[in-house]
Amino acid sequence: MNVDLRELYQEVILDHNKRPRNRHALEDATNRSEGHNPLCGDQVTVFLKAEDGRVVDIAFEGQGCAISTASASLMTEAVKGKTLEEATAIFREFQEMVTSPDSDEEHPNLGQLQVLAGVKDHPVRIKCATLPWHTLNAALSGEGKVSTE
Ligand code: ZN
Repeated sequence: MNVDLRELYQEVILDHNKRPRNRHALEDATNRSEGHNPLCGDQVTVFLKAEDGRVVDIAFEGQGCAISTASASLMTEAVKGKTLEEATAIFREFQEMVTSPDSDEEHPNLGQLQVLAGVKDHPVRIKCATLPWHTLNAALSGEGKVSTE
């Protein structure tokens, strides 16, 4: 990855950490789940409203490091309006992107989520980046709580 791109990615992460999108509770949520990453202390609650197999609204609350907060914020933007199948497909591709350290494969389908690709070089951070996604997955499958441990 070239230096300019890396800096740009860093800026997007910092921006989402400073001004997280969709960080609030969702009164009329149909699904919710709480996630915890004991390794870093990240806590996230994901709320979503599913209707006719589509994520019509999604939000999160929680406390965590910059990576987990930015990842949750970016996730809500990526998944809102998608069908449940599409959301699951994005989750799988995201997971693959951040857990394949030797792969330089590009993931254009992931759009802005690609800014988090750099965490694959920092194993400790992978759980921070994937926590919101595991929590979303748990919410979709009706599990109340999830831990990265
Ligand atoms: Zn963290």
